[in-house]
Amino acid sequence: MTVSYLPPSPSALARASWEDIEPFFDELAARQLDSDNITAWLHEWSRLEELVTEAAARAMIAYTIDTSHGDKEADHLRFSTEILPRMEERSVELARKLLATGFSTPDLTTTLARFRTQIGIFREENVPIFAELEEHSARYQRITGSMTAEWEGVERPLPQLQPFLKSPDRAVRERAYRAASAPYIESRGQLAALFDQMYQLRTGAAHNAGFDNFRDYIFPAKFRFDYTPGDCEKFHAAIEQTAAPAVQRVLEHRRQRLELDVLRPWDLAVDPYRRNPLRPFSDASDLVGKAKQVFDRVHPALGREFQTMIDEGLLDLESRKGKAPGGYCETLHFNGRPFIFMNAVGLVDDVMTLLHEAGHAFHAFASHPLPLIWQRHPGSEAAELASMSMEFLASPHLAQPVGYFDAAEARSAWLEHLEDVLLSLVHIASVDAFQTWIYTSGQGGDARARDDAWLRIRQRFERGVDWSGLEQERVARWYRQLHIFMYPFYYIEYGIAQIGALQVWRNSLNNPAKAVARYREALALGATRNLPEIYSAAGARLTFDVGEIAPLVELVENQIERARAELPRS
Ligand SMILES: [Zn+2]
Repeated sequence: MTVSYLPPSPSALARASWEDIEPFFDELAARQLDSDNITAWLHEWSRLEELVTEAAARAMIAYTIDTSHGDKEADHLRFSTEILPRMEERSVELARKLLATGFSTPDLTTTLARFRTQIGIFREENVPIFAELEEHSARYQRITGSMTAEWEGVERPLPQLQPFLKSPDRAVRERAYRAASAPYIESRGQLAALFDQMYQLRTGAAHNAGFDNFRDYIFPAKFRFDYTPGDCEKFHAAIEQTAAPAVQRVLEHRRQRLELDVLRPWDLAVDPYRRNPLRPFSDASDLVGKAKQVFDRVHPALGREFQTMIDEGLLDLESRKGKAPGGYCETLHFNGRPFIFMNAVGLVDDVMTLLHEAGHAFHAFASHPLPLIWQRHPGSEAAELASMSMEFLASPHLAQPVGYFDAAEARSAWLEHLEDVLLSLVHIASVDAFQTWIYTSGQGGDARARDDAWLRIRQRFERGVDWSGLEQERVARWYRQLHIFMYPFYYIEYGIAQIGALQVWRNSLNNPAKAVARYREALALGATRNLPEIYSAAGARLTFDVGEIAPLVELVENQIERARAELPRS
C-alpha cells in the first residue's frame, strides 16, 4: 500500500502550520476500515506521526542549540504549542476508530492499552491548557538558559562553573557554588510565580479529566500501568532506610579525607584523593572519539551505531552561551536516528552523561526496526534502564589505551560514579516525594509552603552536609530541577531504572558478554512488552522492595570501599 500522498520528508514540514498537516488526518479519519486495509492504514498513520514528530524534534533541537534566536524559538513553539497538541487530539480520534474495529495483534497489546487510557483521560478542554503549559516551559528554559555568572571578570553560562566546584581550593569552590546559586536565588520570585501558574493549569487539567489531583492524573497519563503511588512511597522509604545512611557514611569518609570539621555543599564535588580534578578529554571531538572506542569495546554493533551519529552530525556536546541547559537524547522517528545534546565542559560527569545519553541512542537504534512508531518508545522507566545500564556496562572500558583515563584515574572516576549513584538515589527520592507533596497536599500553589516542604523533605533524605546559613541556596536547588517545571513527575523513573541498572551491572560482574546481550535484547523489544517483561528480558526485576534494594546499595558500598583501597594513599 502506497503512502505517496504524505510529505516526502520531515524537512518538507519545517515551516508547516497545523492547517498544512490537518488534511492528512482528515484523510485517515475518513477512511472506511476493514480487515483488508487496516494494517496499511495503521502504517500510514504511523508514518504521518513519524514525519510530524521528527519535524517537531528538529525544531526543538535547533532551538535548544540556540535559545537566543527568535525564529528558532517561534518554530519550536509552533510545533510544541500548536501542532503537537492538535495532533494528539486527532490521534485520539484515530485511536478510537482503531479500537472500534476490535483489531489486535500480540505486538500491539501494549499500544492498544495505551490508546485506551489516552482516550479515557482525554478532554477537549485540556488541549489549550497543555499548549499553555508548553509556553510556560519555554519561558522556564529562556529564563534559566540565559542565566550567567561573572567569574574572574568574564560572563559565563552556569554549566561552565562546574569545574570550579571541583577545585582543591575550598574558597574557590565556595565562590563557584554561591555564584551558580545566585541567579536562581535572584529569580526565585519570577520562577515561583511561573510555577504557580503551571500548578494551577495542571490541577485544572486533572479536575477536567475527573481526577482529584494531578498526581492521580499523571499515573495513567504516563502509562504507569505496572506500579502505584503506594509503590513510590515504598521506594521513598526504602531509600531512606538504605541509601540515605550509606550516603552519610560515604560523606563521613569524605569529610575525614578532606580533613574538614563539617562538609558544606561546596565540598561534595572535589576529589578527595587528587590535587586536581580529572580532565578526561580536551574538547568535544576528543570526547566523541574516545567514546566511539569505548562503545566498540562494549559491543561492535554499538560502536558502529555511534559512528553513524558522528558521521551524520547527530551530536552537539560542548557548552556554549545561548544553549539550553541540561542534556537529552531525542529520537528522529522518520529517519530512525537519535540526536544527543549536552553541555560538556571537560569533566568526568560529561563522560558519564555521554554514556547515559548514548544508552538512549542505542535504544532508538534497537527499537527502530519495529514497524509502528507507538511500538518503539517504552515509558521512561525502561528508557532510563537503557541509559543507566550503559553507564555501568561501559565503565570497565574507560581506561586507556582507548579510553579517557590511566588506570589510577579510571579508579577515581569509577569511585566518583559509584558515589554519585548513592547520592542520586537520595536526590531522586526527595524530588519524587516533593512533587507528590506539591500535587496532593492542597498547598502546592503556595510558594512559601512549597519552599518549606522542600526543606523538610530534603532533611528527611539528605544527611551528612551542613547547610546552616544556606537556606536560600538549599531552596534554590529545586528551582534548578527542570523536570519539576517541564516534565512533572518525571524523576522516580530514574530511581526505578537505577535499581534495574544495578542488577544489570551485578549480572555483568559474573558474565559481561551475557549482560550486554540481554541488555540489547531488552532494548529491541521497544514498547511491545510491559515493564516487568522488559526488565526481566534485561536480566533485572522491577522492584520497590527494601529487601531487594538493600543488597544493591550494599554492593555499591562494598565496591566503593574496594575502589578506595586500590587508590594511592598519599
Ligand atoms: Zn536519561
